[in-house]
Amino acid sequence: MRIVLVGPPGAGKGTQAAFLAQNLAIPHISTGDLFRANISQGTELGLKAKSYMDAGNLVPDEVTIGMAKDRMAQADAVNGFLLDGFPRNVSQAEALDDALKLDGQQLDAVLDLEVPEDEVVKRIAGRRICRNDSSHVFHVSYKQPATEGVCDVCGGELYQRGDDTEETVRRRLEVYHSETEPIIDHYRAQGLVVTISALGSVAEVTERAMAALRKGDAA
Ligand code: AMP
Repeated sequence: MRIVLVGPPGAGKGTQAAFLAQNLAIPHISTGDLFRANISQGTELGLKAKSYMDAGNLVPDEVTIGMAKDRMAQADAVNGFLLDGFPRNVSQAEALDDALKLDGQQLDAVLDLEVPEDEVVKRIAGRRICRNDSSHVFHVSYKQPATEGVCDVCGGELYQRGDDTEETVRRRLEVYHSETEPIIDHYRAQGLVVTISALGSVAEVTERAMAALRKGDAA
């Protein structure tokens, strides 16, 4: 299966993507994770991306599209993938459509995670993420780890992403509305969009997502 996950920051895309990718036996490809890995390795690409990310803006397409295509071209992604955070604007969506068409492929579904805006800010401002695996996500009030600052799953160090401050979250939400939301209409025109609520426990949302993908009730 080839799936795109969309939703505002704080919808739980990273968490859900990890579970869904495991259930569907496809790789989880997160452009945000790829950028963060490049930043921590000090690569040129990471240097280019950092200032945009810190400000809550999109990294330019000429950097992002090539990076995403390179990752999708790797061997583990030949039979499918779950894209998390890509595409994030209509020109990236068109570039993805073209790249898939060239290979005689197409997307199977675009899973749209819906969450109210006040919930997003609460979720993100208290979010703490494991340095070893960004799908190990905790929260200072809603999901505290057994030991403060330590990941329950793997013992990794928990940290707050530099772009998870309230001010940057508000900017990321603006960018989501103006640049990313239009891709939902782009994909709706192709009959690919499945919208589900991202409220409830992680397991409930995963189950809802799997049921929606199984039914293939795209509209
Ligand atoms: P995420 O981890 O998906 O929340 O992404 C974190 C940040 O990385 C975003 O706020 C952007 O600055 C950048 N980013 C991730 N994916 C993309 C993309 N597809 N296009 C442009 N910027 C991106």
